[in-house]
Amino acid sequence: MSRKWIIAIDGPAASGKGTLARRLSEHIGVPYLDTGLLYRAVARDVLARGENLEDVAASVVAAKAIDAGTLGDLALRGPLAGDAASIIAKIPEVRAALLDYQRDFARAAERGAILDGRDIGTVVCPDAHIKIFVTASDEARARRRHLEHQGRGEPIPYERVLEDLRRRDARDSNRSIAPLEVAADALLIDTTELDPDQAFGVVLDLIEKRMQK
Ligand code: C5P
Repeated sequence: MSRKWIIAIDGPAASGKGTLARRLSEHIGVPYLDTGLLYRAVARDVLARGENLEDVAASVVAAKAIDAGTLGDLALRGPLAGDAASIIAKIPEVRAALLDYQRDFARAAERGAILDGRDIGTVVCPDAHIKIFVTASDEARARRRHLEHQGRGEPIPYERVLEDLRRRDARDSNRSIAPLEVAADALLIDTTELDPDQAFGVVLDLIEKRMQK
């Protein structure tokens, strides 16, 4: 890989984009930013201060003070954090405050970077060399999430997981700023019938072809 490649990966919750991004980052040897963690961390910090998630001023203060050192916090991984994140993610000022962090990450990476989220190909890195939109049926995504919950010993019924995913997708897709949508020049991959190895193989193939052009 001789030039600097920015790879943008977007898609709805539990589409498999995080797993793909992590594996690609290890395979290609470039850093990876899970941008959903930024929104999750802002929501966590707003709640920790006893503030309301819809409170614009409190959310902006938290977004501006985001501490990258806390993104490994396991509490950010749960479904409540995801739901809370999608509430503060509707606030334009919060998105603006997080934009520089994401762009700086892409800019600073010497050989390239992988970022995943909802608006990477459309807003954060519209000039990314490779844009991938990962999707899967609602049921396949809910099944995966449900298995993850079971693995962590969290007794959440499948129907509830499906309902939560759909609610979050609707919130992310219908918001007025940077909604979840497919960038015009994105490569689309549907992982409904693919296991993680197969999805990785398909995406790697697409990327290698794009890089040779
Ligand atoms: O990707 P993850 O599920 O961790 O994202 C949590 C929430 O953060 C999403 O549902 C979405 O509302 C928000 N988000 C966003 N833009 C991104 C990444 C995440 O709005 N680039």
